[in-house]
Amino acid sequence: PLSYNDFIEDHLITVAVRKRPLNKFDLVKKEIDIITIPNKNQLIVHEPKYKVDLTKYLDNHVFTFDYTFNETCSNQIVYKYTAQPLIQTIFEGGYATCFAYGQTGSGKTYLMSGCPKNLKEKGIYALTASDIFKEANSEKYDDLKLEISCSFFEIYVKKVSDLLNGKQTLKLLEDGKQQVQVVGLTERTVSSVDEVLHLIKIGNEERASGQTSANVNSSRSHAVFQICLRSKLNPKKIHGKFSLIDLAGNERGADTFFSSKTTKMEGSEINQSLLNLKECIRALGRKGAHLPFRGSKLTQVLRDSFIGANNKTCMIAMVSPGVSSCENTLNTLRYADRVK
Ligand code: ADP
Ligand code: MG
Repeated sequence: PLSYNDFIEDHLITVAVRKRPLNKFDLVKKEIDIITIPNKNQLIVHEPKYKVDLTKYLDNHVFTFDYTFNETCSNQIVYKYTAQPLIQTIFEGGYATCFAYGQTGSGKTYLMSGCPKNLKEKGIYALTASDIFKEANSEKYDDLKLEISCSFFEIYVKKVSDLLNGKQTLKLLEDGKQQVQVVGLTERTVSSVDEVLHLIKIGNEERASGQTSANVNSSRSHAVFQICLRSKLNPKKIHGKFSLIDLAGNERGADTFFSSKTTKMEGSEINQSLLNLKECIRALGRKGAHLPFRGSKLTQVLRDSFIGANNKTCMIAMVSPGVSSCENTLNTLRYADRVK
């Protein structure tokens, strides 16, 4: 196990990578692990040059990030160095945002929502909510009379659906000040982690419902979980907001879900929204930088996260260890590298 002692301070954007362990499906496919993490901020992809022998003739690609987490790291450890340091931001009146990015099957939902088979392995949604509750109870905020609420929705291509209200379709509205609202979005006031876990469960079940192979697949939608802080003294105004996003799988056209013409088109829209997201994250903290937030529903919804001096973001690039994921893994790491 690696030790992560030093925090990186004053970063507007933190970029980390998390490698998941080989699982039983990988073992059935006789996958070999091509990723090594030699220290806490480097990662090496050993790309086989030829299919004849996957252990020989390797192209080694070395990447450096703020943090690299190997397969022995728990969600809790990843959380501690990525989302947790951003909590103060929302109490100071800013927007914090955390993205899980990577191909389908790389562990995004495991990290964000937790392990469905082991409730002790909580995800970043619940861990963040838990720490927000703790902080909000501190005397410092007695005068503000803070209230905490959660919302959970998904974005599939251009459609926004409320995961806490039977997948009701929602419209976005931009006001004169360019502020974007999700009209009619369910917001649940919460006061305990158990309530939050319940909302995550409902939302994830909703996300998975009604799916057939011909239907929308949840792995191609972005799931957005938001925790909002308001003062009861002025409940219309948002004091701070933490957005936690389980992004759509970033794999390209050819595989799994894209065979027909329409799904191919949708696939390219999703990739477009991820490219757009990269540009918006890169604009963070750069005065006068071009912010193409109208380029996709996702970046429209998150507009406030990209604007304003008090905001912070972290991106966790998720990678699968297997050799058959090599191309997707390299794409994921190159994307994350560009966000730094
Ligand atoms: P994604 O949301 O990126 O498509 P999932 O979170 O569904 O991927 O993960 C794919 C599979 O791998 C699931 O069976 C999940 O439980 C397992 N998995 C993912 N990350 C880990 C991890 N860190 N440790 C153990 N199992 C994991
Ligand atoms: Mg998922």
